[in-house]
Amino acid sequence: MSATILYIEDNSDNLTLVKRAMEAAGYNFIGAQDGLSGLKMAEDQAPDVILLDINLPDIDGYEVARRLRSSSKPNLIYVPVIAITANAMRGDAEKALAAGCDVYMSKPINIRELWARVEALLQSSEIT
Ligand code: MN
Repeated sequence: MSATILYIEDNSDNLTLVKRAMEAAGYNFIGAQDGLSGLKMAEDQAPDVILLDINLPDIDGYEVARRLRSSSKPNLIYVPVIAITANAMRGDAEKALAAGCDVYMSKPINIRELWARVEALLQSSEIT
C-alpha cells in the first residue's frame, strides 16, 4: 500500500506542484488550504508524512505542529512533519523544530530534496 502525504498549504500553485511530484513518486496525495482543515484531515485520514506551510490564513504552521504533537491520537503525535516556508528568517528553523516539526525546508521548493526527505522519513518510521 502506498504512503499518504498530506500537504497543508494555502498557495494553490505550490499545492499543485507538490501534488504532481508526490503522485509521480507513487504516493497518495491529500491537500488542505488552512491549518484547521489540515488538522481535521490529519485526524480523519492518518497520513504517513505531513508537509506543513508556516504562513497559513488561520492558525500558523507552528500552532498546527503543536496541536499535532499534543493530540489525543498517537499517530498524530509521531507522524513525521516537514515544515516548508518562504520566510527563511534566522530562527525559523529552530521555531519549527521547537513546535514539533522533524525537518525544515525553505521555499522555493526543491522537488528532489523533498522526495529524498519524504522517502527518508518514511523509511525511518517503518523501522520502529
Ligand atoms: Mn502560505
